Amino acid sequence: MAERSKYKRILLKLSGEALAGDEGFGIRPEVLDRMALEIGQLVGVGIQVGLVVGGGNLFRGAALQAAGLDRVAGDHMGMLATVMNGLALRDALERSNISTHVMSAIPMSGVVEHYDHRRAVRYLNSGDVVIFSAGTGNPFFTTDSAACLRAIEIEANLMLKATKVDGVYTDDPVKNPDATRYERLTYDEVLARQLGVMDLTAICLARDHGLPVRVFDMNETGSLARAVLGTNEGTLIEQ
Ligand code: UDP
Repeated sequence: MAERSKYKRILLKLSGEALAGDEGFGIRPEVLDRMALEIGQLVGVGIQVGLVVGGGNLFRGAALQAAGLDRVAGDHMGMLATVMNGLALRDALERSNISTHVMSAIPMSGVVEHYDHRRAVRYLNSGDVVIFSAGTGNPFFTTDSAACLRAIEIEANLMLKATKVDGVYTDDPVKNPDATRYERLTYDEVLARQLGVMDLTAICLARDHGLPVRVFDMNETGSLARAVLGTNEGTLIEQ
């Protein structure tokens, strides 16, 4: 499969909700195990995998602010949530015999390694999975932006954004049965049509650095491998 894939190194962005199963809250061990299986298929054929995990299944700064909390404190809680998700994901990957490191943008000595770009690349080159946690380390950003940032830093060939829908649609496919899926979009089309795939910071980062992004549904078995092989899976956003 590695020979069939034009991508040597990928960055997979998993939202926190993706780890929560149907409830939308917390972490479901069976979901983690399934993710580990899918990721293991890529690692097994020599594709280097970096992961950015969200925290929305536990805390989101904006939601905490709406409930009366200080925004910066809320964002710090959201970033810490991504570290918890990262630890859970590492546990599942290591149980599947996939050597995995969690790095955090916020120093957390004794729990996880502090993010170090050169060390991360060394781990990836040796075939280990690296989970980049704590987002960018700064409030007012999202883990989508962190995913684009880390993907660009590690020179990933592709950023994969796992969502609950199998790509980007002309309209909400749940509400509008006539909505159709885009196979391919340019960054500028995403911006001009206000498609809301990712926040503006994330999409602009991807555009400015020519990072291709594939949006796909990871709930379907084998979809991650199909997305990396470049078959017609989800929506590809590029120049
Ligand atoms: N967050 C932040 N800075 C970052 C990344 C994340 O402050 O660089 C906080 C923010 O509060 C966000 C929360 O962490 O709501 C969880 O991240 P996100 O909402 O992106 O997670 P996802 O929706 O992917 O689960």
